[in-house]
Amino acid sequence: MHSRTQGIGHRLRALGAGIVMLGLAACQSTPTPAAPAPTHEGTNAILWLQTAAEYRAATLQAFRSATLHLERALADPTWSAALEQQGEFGALPPAIILDMDEAIIRSDRFQAGLVKNDGHYSLEVWNDWVRTETSEAISGALEYAREARERGIKIFYVTNRTAEVEASSLATLRKLGFPVEGGLEDLLTQHERPEWGSDKSSRRAVVCRTHRVIQIVGDNLNDFTSGAHSSLDRRLALTNRYADYWGSRWIVMPNPSYGGWDGALFEYDWSLSRGEILDRKREHLKTTEDD
Ligand SMILES: [Mg+2]
Repeated sequence: MHSRTQGIGHRLRALGAGIVMLGLAACQSTPTPAAPAPTHEGTNAILWLQTAAEYRAATLQAFRSATLHLERALADPTWSAALEQQGEFGALPPAIILDMDEAIIRSDRFQAGLVKNDGHYSLEVWNDWVRTETSEAISGALEYAREARERGIKIFYVTNRTAEVEASSLATLRKLGFPVEGGLEDLLTQHERPEWGSDKSSRRAVVCRTHRVIQIVGDNLNDFTSGAHSSLDRRLALTNRYADYWGSRWIVMPNPSYGGWDGALFEYDWSLSRGEILDRKREHLKTTEDD
């Protein structure tokens, strides 16, 4: 067993050796600076999605809340989760609207590839990855979807994946076991019809014509309401306006990696370089000295 004085002696000797090493380094005419640690804007966010027990806990919590509210939603004919729901809808059959990526299925492996290769998103590389059909289910999502189906609730998948990868998206859902009895009819993809842009309102309106939408699951404010492609303040105001919806009508999954919140930080100016975007983002950091 080491005594306290032995321990201090070891440390002093180690310190002495360190000073000698520093002295040697100082004598070298061309000191080599340490290489900067590799970094990427997405590193921590992707690691959280891929490794944090808290991410799993958060999604289980969200789907549990969703499941618990199904009974109340079914029993109340005045209940709708869609702002587009108009007229007499009480007698319509019930449905839920699910976004796909980071709402019920995961794309963190695609994003981890970008981090590791210091790459960035483009529709082309994204669609190539979608065609691999390797997404995994988010914890709790399958159980929730199956419970809804057992209760006779129709499921529509309203995703901003584009129409050209609709078949791969359907295959992925099928492979994972999500209910898709209607095949491609159950998926409402971006640009599938000319009027179906990135704002999902027109697609929610289509579902509302035939069904009472009792819940919406997403990871982006845009999955729930129009007007989310806007400033940070406007996005917060929209979130507050529908404060009563969260957790019962609207179920939001955490996504620290990407989404409208991210674009809003640099006013969606995708012409900026990565460095310029990072500079814009850093301007939003608030310290104790800031207002
Ligand atoms: Mg999503």
